[in-house]
Amino acid sequence: MDISVVIPLYNEAESLPELTAWIDRVMTDNGFTYEVIMVDDGSTDNSWQVIQDLAKDNPSIHGISFRRNYGKSPALNTGFARAQGDVVITMDADLQDSPDEIPELYRMITAEGYDLVSGWKKKRYDPLSKTIPTKLFNATARRVSGIKNLHDFNCGLKAYRKEVVKHIEVYGDMHRYIPYLAKNAGFSRIGEKVVHHQARKYGTTKFGLDRFVNGYLDLATLWFTSRFGAKPMHFFGLLGSLMFVIGLIAVMVIGFGKLWDMAHGNPYILVTDSPYFYLSLTMMILGSMLFLTGFIGELIVRNSPSRNHYEVKETL
Ligand code: UDP
Ligand code: MG
Repeated sequence: MDISVVIPLYNEAESLPELTAWIDRVMTDNGFTYEVIMVDDGSTDNSWQVIQDLAKDNPSIHGISFRRNYGKSPALNTGFARAQGDVVITMDADLQDSPDEIPELYRMITAEGYDLVSGWKKKRYDPLSKTIPTKLFNATARRVSGIKNLHDFNCGLKAYRKEVVKHIEVYGDMHRYIPYLAKNAGFSRIGEKVVHHQARKYGTTKFGLDRFVNGYLDLATLWFTSRFGAKPMHFFGLLGSLMFVIGLIAVMVIGFGKLWDMAHGNPYILVTDSPYFYLSLTMMILGSMLFLTGFIGELIVRNSPSRNHYEVKETL
């Protein structure tokens, strides 16, 4: 099979007939063999009924229905597990992404050798409250992930070589950083294609402004786990030791300073009357705690079943 289209959806009943008809038209025109995997993320409208009806008329349409709403990432991950096409395409269900982009995305993966091609909604049809923070968000994501050529990490329209989706795990809200996940799994040929974007035709957006707060927290998590996930002591140990040593030196300066003044008959105060004494003490305590966190982190890693899991590309 050439292409699997994975579509996560939550309350998108009105869009589905139009979307599947459009996908089918593009696939037939280009002679692709394909499957569509609709992942109904616990919709409370009649999306699942619509999917069942569509599947009756078109054997290429498959569906998975969650018992409750889990989120876009779990939906994508479940669709990825089932996908069988050589190229896997993800797109949103709300008709904001155009199926007309599929042939070119497919070509970029198969002919140009990309592992992942991400859409770039260069001209966006979303409210300003969304587009401006998005610019900032993408700039940060580029820096932290080191994937410098992407402008739109969170674009729902993406194409993958099949191995990629079988080797990454999208969980929580990590769908925003799939290129980063792919890079961490060793798939570094990541490309971008400018795609058409439309205003939402039916239904409403499922994400509010909290996406930006959560997005940054998730980015921090990914940065930390990808760099120190297997060796937390290198992070906490360094930070803890630095803080402890600075605190220790400061305490010694305060203590010896007082002794010096006493010995030379200068006026002096009790060390406990100096605010610096308490600051130094706090630094030493926090430093020790960070260091111990490192030890605990190492104990946790030692027990992780994936501590010796590596992505092997080839063996001979
Ligand atoms: N979605 C989902 N589960 C959720 C929220 C959203 O499967 O809990 C789907 C949604 O139905 C759509 C896609 O994720 O197909 C993108 O959502 P949306 O269009 O609301 O995001 P936006 O375009 O506003 O960023
Ligand atoms: Mg949308």
